[in-house]
Amino acid sequence: MKAIAIDGPAGAGKSTIAKAIAKKIGFIYVDTGALYRAVGLYVSRNDVNTTDKERIQPMLKNIQVELKYVDGTQRVFLNGEDVSEAIRVPEMSMHASNVSAIPCVREFLFDLQRNITKVNDVIMDGRDIGTVVLPNADVKIFLTASPEVRAKRRYDEHMEKGQTVDFDKLLEEIKQRDYNDSHREIAPLKQAEDAILVDTSDNSLEQSIELLSNIILKQIKIS
Ligand code: C5P
Repeated sequence: MKAIAIDGPAGAGKSTIAKAIAKKIGFIYVDTGALYRAVGLYVSRNDVNTTDKERIQPMLKNIQVELKYVDGTQRVFLNGEDVSEAIRVPEMSMHASNVSAIPCVREFLFDLQRNITKVNDVIMDGRDIGTVVLPNADVKIFLTASPEVRAKRRYDEHMEKGQTVDFDKLLEEIKQRDYNDSHREIAPLKQAEDAILVDTSDNSLEQSIELLSNIILKQIKIS
């Protein structure tokens, strides 16, 4: 089985690019942020603060998160309920970031991520895929872009879905999430030593897809 790890901050283009390449080369695309979002959703629905380690730890035994692939598209299930849309509301980003800093939550989601790669060729994106989850991945890419460009992309995504958001608030939140994700003690967001750094600030989406496809195809032989 082959594995491609793509890490980087929110809005760098990981999911859109990875999805397009996965389709092209017949791999499955695994969005690991969705797993943290599902845990964040469960905790917030139970009116527990998503930073409250002590209360969250015992809740984990009541949570079952599953990934299923419907026509090649990932769907996320929380205790049997398809929450793929519910996890995308703006406030879920910070809840996911909060729960992701709790070690027992990361441990809880680790096997699920690893097991998928045993039976599938994958492109997996997240924050710690190249460093922690798949240290032996065949290709590792660290994708980034300036905070302003990333906030603008998120802004456009929300507007397209009809979700009204404030640009400045989104930019502030992206910066806050970058800070939280890269300063947490466990599995912080950072470039793996053997990852290739790609900055997409000045690229169109098509250019980034092309660039990453070339890097990936050069590094792995796909039969
Ligand atoms: O990628 P996405 O924005 O959906 O991720 C939501 C949050 O989940 C991130 O801000 C990060 O804190 C956390 N996350 C993580 N490790 C991953 C994927 C996501 O800590 N592998």
